[in-house]
Amino acid sequence: MEIVKSKTKMREIVEDEKRKGRVAGLVPTMGYFHKGHLELMKKACSECDVVVVSLFVNPTQFSEGEDLKAYPRDFERDCRLAEREGVDYIFAPEKDEMYPDDFLTEVKVKEISEVMCGAYRPGHFTGVATVVAKLFNIVPAQRAYFGRKDAQQLVIIRKMARDMDFPVEINAIDIVRENDGLAMSSRNSYLNPTERRESIALFHSLVEAGKLIDSGERDAGVIKAAMEEVVARSPVINLEYITICDNIYLKPLDELSGQVLIAIAAYVGKARLIDNIVVDLE
Ligand code: AMP
Repeated sequence: MEIVKSKTKMREIVEDEKRKGRVAGLVPTMGYFHKGHLELMKKACSECDVVVVSLFVNPTQFSEGEDLKAYPRDFERDCRLAEREGVDYIFAPEKDEMYPDDFLTEVKVKEISEVMCGAYRPGHFTGVATVVAKLFNIVPAQRAYFGRKDAQQLVIIRKMARDMDFPVEINAIDIVRENDGLAMSSRNSYLNPTERRESIALFHSLVEAGKLIDSGERDAGVIKAAMEEVVARSPVINLEYITICDNIYLKPLDELSGQVLIAIAAYVGKARLIDNIVVDLE
């Protein structure tokens, strides 16, 4: 596995691989790998001839006062884990390589970037869309891999890729969870033992929603209220939002139908956690 820091070199490598008729896959990450990241790499390695994992803690997707400085990092360990999965290249640019002093451009996906997490993290998804657009240019892979854990991000990236005509196929993997159901996240490392125990309420609220839907409930208000009740039982959870919406335009639903995204975001101590389920209904 080779570590590449230069975007020119990275692009040359991928163009060269493609000229040889090989299929390239890109897995964008911010590092501090857990099993969710490793599943993405596994899928990419099984479907592509050459796999590039980008590892860049993107400053433009963190708002003022967020955890950019504290974001967990362990580059050596990440490289070992990626290599074990069969990854061919780690693209790990310095900040100035991605954003030189005279950088002026933003890629903004309107409307769907401003709801849900976007309402609480202004500018976050513009930071995400901008860096992913850059990555699609620097690593011109035919396939890119993202996790369903970041459901809104996935919707936004699909839209951005379509609207901007990026010739890349967007692939997704299901949420990888701890044994008790907590969605794996680099930010789980912020949780103390009490918070870790209580954080499971996010998943439990989604399980409750699933049970209600299975029993025939279609009223979003009823489902949301039941979910709120589950998280309200925990004193260390500070709920940000629960949204029940369609999975393309992220428009809130009153009655559940079609492909429905049920998403939750909450602070557990100082960790901001997100989780979701997607259900397909008639
Ligand atoms: P991050 O390093 O947090 O930016 O995540 C990099 C990629 O891994 C994104 O596409 C995430 O959606 C995905 N990812 C993170 N956590 C999980 C998880 N628990 N299950 C599946 N994918 C995940």
